[in-house]
Amino acid sequence: SKGLISENTKMSAELFEKAGKVIPGGVTAHIKHIAPHPLVMEKAKGSKIYDVDGNEYIDYLLSYGALIHGHGHEHVQQAVMNQMETDGTTIFGTPHKLEITMAEKLIDLYPGIDMVRYTNSGLEATLLAISTAMAYTGKTKLAKFEGHYHGGYDQVLLSVNPDLEQAGGEEAPQAVPESSGIPEYYVENTIMLPFNDLESVERLLRKHANEISGLIMEPVQGGFIPAEKEFMDGIRKLTEELGIVLIFDEVKTGFRVGLGGAQEMYGIEPDLTALGKVLGGGFPVGAIGGKREFMMTTAVDDSRDILTAGADNTNKKQSVFHSGTYNGHPTVLAAGLATINVLEQTGTMDDLFTKTRKLREKLEAVYQKHGLTMQTVGASSIFNIILTDERILNYRDMEHHDANLRKEIDYELLKLGIYTKPMNRYSMSTVHSDEDIEQTVTAHGEAIRRVLNK
Ligand code: PMP
Repeated sequence: SKGLISENTKMSAELFEKAGKVIPGGVTAHIKHIAPHPLVMEKAKGSKIYDVDGNEYIDYLLSYGALIHGHGHEHVQQAVMNQMETDGTTIFGTPHKLEITMAEKLIDLYPGIDMVRYTNSGLEATLLAISTAMAYTGKTKLAKFEGHYHGGYDQVLLSVNPDLEQAGGEEAPQAVPESSGIPEYYVENTIMLPFNDLESVERLLRKHANEISGLIMEPVQGGFIPAEKEFMDGIRKLTEELGIVLIFDEVKTGFRVGLGGAQEMYGIEPDLTALGKVLGGGFPVGAIGGKREFMMTTAVDDSRDILTAGADNTNKKQSVFHSGTYNGHPTVLAAGLATINVLEQTGTMDDLFTKTRKLREKLEAVYQKHGLTMQTVGASSIFNIILTDERILNYRDMEHHDANLRKEIDYELLKLGIYTKPMNRYSMSTVHSDEDIEQTVTAHGEAIRRVLNK
């Protein structure tokens, strides 16, 4: 009936209406919104989630990729209980040992990380990385790519999903705010770049080199459109030459395209790295890591002499204030370390990649069988379903994709027990089974049939 995802989602619709009275728009994050109503979940286990109407779904949202071992992984749950029991508290509010253990782990895994600081979300990590770049260089502008998401606030909330009417020419995009309440200052101080177009990027970076503090990028846009190798090499070379701090936002790619993230995959060392999602094992988390020289910008004044000893002491390097009640939270780090430990077990990462490839190949075959033009685009354990055979290298290429058809199929998939937010990517977990894959492929076939027969 009207206003329902299906006849079997009435309780979700009712709760959404109730939520709308006490929560603006009925959701606590814009991304949770689905029209006509989101599905309200109440239970989960492994690769499955269950809504309040009792419907079962195979979960490919996995909390936007955070749950790499699915829901309620025994090892992770146990680590959380152990931490609380052994420590006798959830948080000390002081330094503790797990902060060091996790930092050592990240330094070991990520080629570009010599030191680490923790935050409570990916957004905080990207914002801290940007402040650090500004303090370190003494410059005030930021370069970012059109279509790249770095969190929902201020300077990073420009041209993530812009209306192309307002977004300027392809080779020199204009910064478009994605929200009301973003100061004009940020629009004026952001150099927007076209992804995977090295020539245009070089021209823009050279033109504004004296003003640009840092360049922030998703090495794999949206977790699914990889930077081309030569593009990435070019970016590293240019930023180094021009004194621009290169920031990899690996909130999504971290532990997903490989244990050492995109930097390991590309063999490139960024100056700063933002991490989140998988790092928290399902709890709120973020971290920045990077080269010692840059990271020491966030050290307290007492250690200034460490920073300047032997270093280029030109007064450029100022101190960035970084604090937060929950930074380096013991429970979160325990969950994160357990998550990484499971990932590090022999064969786990390879198995994850193999099953993702298998699902992609089988899905491609189903669409082809039904005469639909489709490709999967992705890197390792995340991919997207794109309904065009044009090459997808950046935000504007997505214009060729048949979004309406995809949306119709996605809504049918919800009714058939396949969960991802309509139009969202697919994230795989280490616990998705062969049976899940078969069910998913069958459901896609059925969804396509239903849509084409409408
Ligand atoms: N950067 C990227 C690449 C992300 O995918 C996200 C979250 N989707 C963020 C930053 C923001 O992280 P958080 O939602 O934890 O603030």
